[in-house]
Amino acid sequence: MAIFELLSTSTPILITVCVILGMLVGSFLNVVVYRMPIMLQRDWKQQCCEYLEIENSVPDNNSSSAKFNVFNLHKPDSHCPTCTHKIRAWENVPVLSYLFLGGKCSSCKTRISLRYPCVEFINGVTSGLVAYTFGATWLTLAVLLLAWCLLVLTLIDFDHQLLPDDITLPLLWLGLLVNAVDLGFGVSLRDAVIGAIAGYLVLWSFYWIFKLVTGKEGMGYGDFKLLAALGAWMGWQNLLPIIILSSLVGAVLGLIMIVAMGRDKSVPMPFGPFLAGAGFIMLIWGSQLNSFSLNTVVG
Ligand SMILES: [Zn+2]
Repeated sequence: MAIFELLSTSTPILITVCVILGMLVGSFLNVVVYRMPIMLQRDWKQQCCEYLEIENSVPDNNSSSAKFNVFNLHKPDSHCPTCTHKIRAWENVPVLSYLFLGGKCSSCKTRISLRYPCVEFINGVTSGLVAYTFGATWLTLAVLLLAWCLLVLTLIDFDHQLLPDDITLPLLWLGLLVNAVDLGFGVSLRDAVIGAIAGYLVLWSFYWIFKLVTGKEGMGYGDFKLLAALGAWMGWQNLLPIIILSSLVGAVLGLIMIVAMGRDKSVPMPFGPFLAGAGFIMLIWGSQLNSFSLNTVVG
């Protein structure tokens, strides 16, 4: 395979290809982040109506999806939510189209959220980092999938305080598989299985202790499943660093948001973005961070 040979001999070409791939995938991730929660809500509503044996006539909360009978990841075609102008291929080039269109719909000039090109850009950069770290291997492909899922989970949890099982659970099984077939991740299957179990149980225990003491829910079941997935990928040894890292960043950001932005502190903050972020940091810089903290502690 000439392409694979080229990618394995030249790191700059490998990174460039992965950055471009990451930006293209980022464009699709934007669709997933927007549509998946709406699809889930529709599904749950349908199930409730079937259970109660009533007709499902409740419209979507989201006015731009409410007018479509079929709403999934590929239908309807991408369109402007204001004027329903269909997005053409040249308007869908990651980052570049946004710059070329001046951040506005080509038809009705409604502003396009800056978040779309940002997600494409961030996904390009993180994909490049993964390629740089893991090289031209099958492991890179698997880790790219993990990184893309972590970004989607971060955004959906941030928007909806929801970490869909449809993403967290396959991620957990994929992590166990990667370590079972030994793709070179360096985590034994035993450590991965213990990591998945411990990841779930640690947060599950926190949740129940917090709930019994305060009567409030500090996090959701999605958080347990996400940490279980990270444990399945990275082994139980990385769970503590991930928890410490995510709690630190979460506490600092939470305080900033309460003090500087006047955020209501009774509204729970989603924990998923911090878990996912800490997971990604450990994925790329884990060995450096672990040896650094070991040196600091041991002296
Ligand atoms: Zn428009």
